Amino acid sequence: MNTESVLTGGCFCRRVTFRFNGKPGKVAFCHCETCRSITGAPVTVAVMGSSEQLEFTATEPKYFESSNGVKRGFCDGCGTPICWVGQWHGNGHAFVYAGTLDNIEMITPDRHAFHRTSVSWLAVNTDLPVFPETSPEGALE
Ligand SMILES: [Zn+2]
Ligand SMILES: [Zn+2]
Repeated sequence: MNTESVLTGGCFCRRVTFRFNGKPGKVAFCHCETCRSITGAPVTVAVMGSSEQLEFTATEPKYFESSNGVKRGFCDGCGTPICWVGQWHGNGHAFVYAGTLDNIEMITPDRHAFHRTSVSWLAVNTDLPVFPETSPEGALE
């Protein structure tokens, strides 16, 4: 992978910045109620890979535990939700919210996750595979 294709991003005030090294394992529209509540948006896009892929390049985010073993990172300067860190199918994973990327056009969502709790008045990219909860291990890899 050449350096131009490395995903970078950060919070609104740029106190927290990151690199997401390598290709994401999945890029999912997340319709879960936790992301909805944390971001204030009806649906979010999560860019996910192994936890080693996410590297912070300025101040580290602050974390809180949103459920058992799952940490959510945010900037305590401007409040931007940044990332999720936890276990997914038994391995350490991390995702960043696509809205924090410097160039959101570098990614393309490949699935809908937690579609069971999607908002009835919002239709987005319905050609993509839809999973009622999290996608099964190995799906679309
Ligand atoms: Zn900030
Ligand atoms: Zn979610």
